[in-house]
Amino acid sequence: MPGYLYIVATPIGNLEDITLRAIRILKEVDFIAAEDTRHTQKLLSHFDIHKNLTSYHDHNKEEKAPVIVTRLLEGQSAALVSDAGTPGISDPGYFLINTAIENRIPVIPIPGPTAAIAALSISGLPTDAFVFEGFLPSKRSQKLSRLELLKSEPHTIILYEAPHKIFNTLQDIREVMGERRVSLSRELTKIHEKTMRGNISDIIKAVESISGASGGDTGPPPQGSSAGIRGEITLVIEGLAGEPAQAPSADPLAILEDLMREGFSRKTASAEAARITGMSRKEIYNASLKK
Ligand code: SAM
Repeated sequence: MPGYLYIVATPIGNLEDITLRAIRILKEVDFIAAEDTRHTQKLLSHFDIHKNLTSYHDHNKEEKAPVIVTRLLEGQSAALVSDAGTPGISDPGYFLINTAIENRIPVIPIPGPTAAIAALSISGLPTDAFVFEGFLPSKRSQKLSRLELLKSEPHTIILYEAPHKIFNTLQDIREVMGERRVSLSRELTKIHEKTMRGNISDIIKAVESISGASGGDTGPPPQGSSAGIRGEITLVIEGLAGEPAQAPSADPLAILEDLMREGFSRKTASAEAARITGMSRKEIYNASLKK
């Protein structure tokens, strides 16, 4: 019988956010696969957990996943943890989880914190339907293309962003998506936790003043500068107002054609049109070929 792979969520700052079950599982498993073993060692020491750690991160995931899976197939049990939050959410967990599933290893979630949901829950923006986008591409042209696609997204959008990029990203969002309500959460659950809510222009001004980005009266920094604020940031953006996902006026073929004119492939454009309209990607793709 293979062992179990537990996907264990850990705190995103405040150590009190670990669950009782997470502590028990971390104590019971044969070994723990961690993104950064030194970082996880501190967490384990805090909870008096003494366990073998093995590293599993973005740069070794393809070599390490089969090694971990072999141990699981031999009957050992393992916990996967990331540096913070829920493994697999914008971190390398996905590859191992998928390899384990392919090998018919039981994969069990141990739910807990994730920055995206924590930030959404206090954003004041609609929470009934939302999309999680993780990090935008770092190359500006790709980032702008992604924002172009998100422009028509009717649901609340959640993004992760690095502190030194947030100022430029907020400007890019305003440029492409127009004025929107946003909620910027910084250092959630930590001592310097702060959430700013308002129109994107207000938040840009606030970030500018916190970071001293404007450099006095010389105006905002140019694109590409590293002006920003400190700490970990999750940004929640209002969806396109008044465009419910299943709006009868949403024409999937028109959306697809717009996207293809912008240079997206038929496959990507039909997937995006399906997401916006709630219709079948395959049907949109096939209909577009007949047009
Ligand atoms: N797996 C994690 C989760 O479940 O939230 C996310 C990992 S991702 C590599 C790290 C990003 O999450 C950070 O760059 C930041 O955007 C966001 N984040 C993590 N901790 C946060 C916090 N305490 N407050 C706000 N955002 C946070």
